[in-house]
Amino acid sequence: MDCLFCKIVNGEIPSKKIYEDENCYAFEDINPVAPVHVLIVPKKHINGVDTIEASDGEILKSIFAAIKIIAKDLKLNNGYRVISNVGEDGGQSVRHLHFHLIGGKKLAWTF
Ligand code: 5GP
Ligand code: ZN
Repeated sequence: MDCLFCKIVNGEIPSKKIYEDENCYAFEDINPVAPVHVLIVPKKHINGVDTIEASDGEILKSIFAAIKIIAKDLKLNNGYRVISNVGEDGGQSVRHLHFHLIGGKKLAWTF
């Protein structure tokens, strides 16, 4: 499958790794919007939040455990934001499930 994040997970496209376990992989966003901008993706291809299934429970457990570990490692003690864009209206440009972990400054909330 021609998927950018599958290629990053399998190493075909290089990335700056932050964390990984058997189910998920985390790397620096190429175009950071804040001092910390990490993407956490499942190793298995899932299109987005809209196609998560009950059988993906272990994967989501890994992803949210990873987010907590990364936030602690990167000392985001004062808070951070987790975002998953879905589909065209949500602004999802890569159709492989991913969670943005953004922080390192006081974040604005505007649309
Ligand atoms: P989305 O817009 O789908 O929510 O998020 C996709 C994210 O992937 C964007 O923040 C974009 O900067 C990032 N991105 C796109 N291509 C690459 C790439 O080749 N490498 C890395 N590390 N990030 C990428
Ligand atoms: Zn993929």
